[in-house]
Amino acid sequence: MAAHAGEKAQKTGDFYCAHCDEKVHVTAGDTIPKCPNGHSEYGTRRNEPGNA
Ligand SMILES: [Zn+2]
Repeated sequence: MAAHAGEKAQKTGDFYCAHCDEKVHVTAGDTIPKCPNGHSEYGTRRNEPGNA
């Protein structure tokens, strides 16, 4: 499920930028930041707890 910068993360995990594949770690309840290259659209979240 895609996510965008400015949205609240519903779960802790790593988002990968849809444009440059940069990884951004977010904690549940935090606002999703822009990627280091300034993009705001993310693809699938990975590394969710319980999936390791
Ligand atoms: Zn990016």
